Amino acid sequence: MLLEELRKEIVFYGQEMLKSGLTMHTGGNLSARDPKTGLIVIKPTSLPYRTMRPEDVPVIDENGKMIDGSLKPSSEWPMHTMIYQAMPRVMGIVHDHSIHATACSVADIEIPLIMHEICIYCSSPVKVAAFEVPGTPELGQSALKYLGDNDIVLLGQHGPLAVGATLWHAFDAACAVEQAASMLLVARQLGGTVSPVPSTGRKALRSADPLLGPDGQPPEIKAV
Ligand SMILES: [Zn+2]
Repeated sequence: MLLEELRKEIVFYGQEMLKSGLTMHTGGNLSARDPKTGLIVIKPTSLPYRTMRPEDVPVIDENGKMIDGSLKPSSEWPMHTMIYQAMPRVMGIVHDHSIHATACSVADIEIPLIMHEICIYCSSPVKVAAFEVPGTPELGQSALKYLGDNDIVLLGQHGPLAVGATLWHAFDAACAVEQAASMLLVARQLGGTVSPVPSTGRKALRSADPLLGPDGQPPEIKAV
């Protein structure tokens, strides 16, 4: 099977999104780019994560042309291909509709860098991009406006999107933004002053390599 390992990663992290509460049923989408061929594996449209198999995962090129697979790619594939075209360093994208980060996107509240995890992926507060209709190229343009120094953006009235040098990196960033959004809500309810991590700490965290495990390799994907 073409890009079998990368297709397994889509299934693995799709199910992790479900288990982690980042999404429900078929919501959100994720993709990964093969560094050797530039081909992209992406969640198939309308298929539940729970029953997804590696052979269900479509392979497309950076223009969205089908290369392999029998199911259609996620309707948000234009956003994914636009990000890969614009950001050569990006090899993985996770987009979900997690409760607290999506609530911030609905309330137009940017997320300050209040915890160390979010500082790994962002140099400045996570911004809310303008709303655009899902599935359109305009959604990709809107997201790209705030990606670059940051690996995370909130799509207006929609949900978070995270990018990374691996799918693991993008998934970890998606977890970090949901955690920060949750803590922002709780901390504000407690009534104290909500302050960002001091700038020296933020710089150290952002410049550290978050991609590798203790053995110097990305975490191994268990069989799916
Ligand atoms: Zn979406």
